[in-house]
Amino acid sequence: VGQDTARLVVAGLRSLSELLHESEDELGRLDAVAGDGDHGRGMSRGSGAALEAAEPAAAAGAGPAAVLMAAGDEWAAKAGGTSGALWGAGLRSFGDLLPDDREVTAADLLAGSRAALEAVQRLGRAEPGDKTLVDALIPFVDELAAAVGDGAGTGEAIRRAAREATAAAERTAELTPRTGRARPLAERSVGTPDPGATSLAMALNRAAEVLGG
Ligand code: ADP
Ligand code: MG
Ligand code: MG
Repeated sequence: VGQDTARLVVAGLRSLSELLHESEDELGRLDAVAGDGDHGRGMSRGSGAALEAAEPAAAAGAGPAAVLMAAGDEWAAKAGGTSGALWGAGLRSFGDLLPDDREVTAADLLAGSRAALEAVQRLGRAEPGDKTLVDALIPFVDELAAAVGDGAGTGEAIRRAAREATAAAERTAELTPRTGRARPLAERSVGTPDPGATSLAMALNRAAEVLGG
């Protein structure tokens, strides 16, 4: 079971890396509105490095937790930028809670996502409403919790939660940044969604497609 899940993790990272590579220019343009324009490059590089670390780990028989920890380390090391460090820490914390000896349930996804959110907030200190990826991640976790409460299966739970993250990322357009590199040009960012929230929502929808069929 663990090796099947590890292979699914690698397939997910491959799909994510393709998506972020294709979205590099779009995410760069979003980040250039009030930031330094490097978000697309960082996400593309980080996810590519994560995949390159995950593939050999899974091939060597590592379980999903070890595969995601290796992926997170490489993402943080190679992406550069604030979002790279946060994604690395988030993936590590998420992976740490995945079981190696049985199928991943919706409750496992919830526990892992909560741990990822905690790690991101511990490291970045962003609060809700600061116009960061936290503003997409909290609604994702909340909807996962609601889905688990409703007895939803893994696929349905992650699809529901990813939809919420998308809506929340779109709503960040109304916000004024209070942290990160976009802060000095905060007013210019109003009307444009946060790049990190946008890429996170894209990633979560892709994960829902891979995991949820
Ligand atoms: P950098 O800002 O270092 O150039 P990126 O452009 O890759 O890094 O990422 C920018 C994104 O990172 C922002 O859109 C925001 O979502 C996220 N971000 C920035 N600072 C924080 C923080 N303290 N906590 C959470 N997310 C943050
Ligand atoms: Mg940037
Ligand atoms: Mg930068």
